[in-house]
Amino acid sequence: MTDLHRLSIRELSEGLAGAKFSSRELTEHYLKRIAKLDTQVKSYVTVTAEQALAQADAADASIKAGIATALTGVPIAHKDIFCTQGIKTTAGSKMLDNFISPYDATVVAKGKAAGLVTLGKVNMDEFAMGSTSENSFYGATVNPWNLGHVPGGSSGGSAAAVAADLAPFATGTDTGGSIRQPASFCGLTGLKPTYGRVSRFGMIAYASSLDQGGPMAHSAEDCAYLMNVMAGHDAKDSTSVEKDVDDYVANLNGTAVKGLRIGIPKQYFNVAGLDADVKARVEESLKKLEEMGATLVEIDLNMTEAYVPTYYLIAPAEASSNLSRYDGVRYGYRAENPVDLTDLYKRSRSEGFGAEVQRRILIGTYALSAGYYDAYYVKAQKVRRLIQQDFLKAFELVDVIAAPAAPTTAYKIGANLSPVEMYLGDIYTIAVNLAGLPAINAPVGFDKDNLPVGLQLIGNYWSESQLLSVVHQYQQATDWHTKRAAIAEENA
Ligand code: GLN
Repeated sequence: MTDLHRLSIRELSEGLAGAKFSSRELTEHYLKRIAKLDTQVKSYVTVTAEQALAQADAADASIKAGIATALTGVPIAHKDIFCTQGIKTTAGSKMLDNFISPYDATVVAKGKAAGLVTLGKVNMDEFAMGSTSENSFYGATVNPWNLGHVPGGSSGGSAAAVAADLAPFATGTDTGGSIRQPASFCGLTGLKPTYGRVSRFGMIAYASSLDQGGPMAHSAEDCAYLMNVMAGHDAKDSTSVEKDVDDYVANLNGTAVKGLRIGIPKQYFNVAGLDADVKARVEESLKKLEEMGATLVEIDLNMTEAYVPTYYLIAPAEASSNLSRYDGVRYGYRAENPVDLTDLYKRSRSEGFGAEVQRRILIGTYALSAGYYDAYYVKAQKVRRLIQQDFLKAFELVDVIAAPAAPTTAYKIGANLSPVEMYLGDIYTIAVNLAGLPAINAPVGFDKDNLPVGLQLIGNYWSESQLLSVVHQYQQATDWHTKRAAIAEENA
């Protein structure tokens, strides 16, 4: 079969179970596509071909023996922020260019236990700081829809790999939009779960109170399959929540769109810099949901203006603390010939971290330092609580909240926005992380340059099933998620 990469996860699962093709055939098919097409897309940092084929053979044996799970033998790409035992884990940084993890992240271990086949590790902004994937030590990944544009970030490698059909689905992480925004830029479905739903153990930390892993795929149904593997309490992560997980696949038709109250925040649709095409596509998608029986309710989210400053204090503050562990001593990059310990610290960090990471360490260290801590960090935490309360008030009136995932479509590579311009592009995603809420991006059309536009739906805590279900039904009634970039149509 030459079009295995066009099959949904359910079709892959059924095809493997029914012996229409083997996991080895499927894995070889993807490895061939990666070898041929990823020279252009540049989504993989590491391709683990040998290990993938061994895992595929083991999966085929499990399927024959009748001990397979729904995903046994299905290939996946992991964001290079998830630790993988014996395989390089870089977080897109020179600092970790030589780092081979001695253990698997819980998400990776759960994937292995479910029989997933790891194709490799995909590119990202350094330590997940960025919105374009250009902040990677390994160079920029490109957007499969237009190779002159960025795929978004920080999970740009995950998004580009899936959009170009170089992996059926991928893991991502979202600290301030890094699943939803690249999903939006690349025409994919991506879910940022409630904080605490997916284990952060072995997921390299950026901002611990905001970081959350989640699935990126073509459709909500594909995401549901991966959520069934990723979600759940983990004794190794004290912030993972002891709460039963849903069967996200079984629940795909569990929420009726008929009668669903969708909140439309007034402030969100008046943001300066909201692109006209993005606005139009999002409004059309809401119209479609209305036709399907949903009710649109105008709401207020009065804290909108505080999102960017609050996030860009708290995230760098936590980052400065988390990244203090990279000292050139224990692991990672070490500067050569240090004259003393201070020189070793200074040069290892100056040479090992890129510009954006250093900028954030400086901002965060400043905000946490004596004399400024109360004025900045503590203040930001108070505003964070107000932002959360703003959402909770809204959820008394509506079931989900609609927003664009980003004010624009994918930027040109090298557009060279100033840091502040870049940060403003996160306006629609970061509040969700500050509040710890779940949110999903779904593709809803294209702009005048044929770049994808996404609709974001934000849910109340633990509403992952509801979000997946609403998008699934939208995708039953529309075909945006089935569109492919020209490069994805190429055969290996
Ligand atoms: N773009 C945001 C940032 O640079 C979000 C990144 C993320 O979610 N990891 O921090």
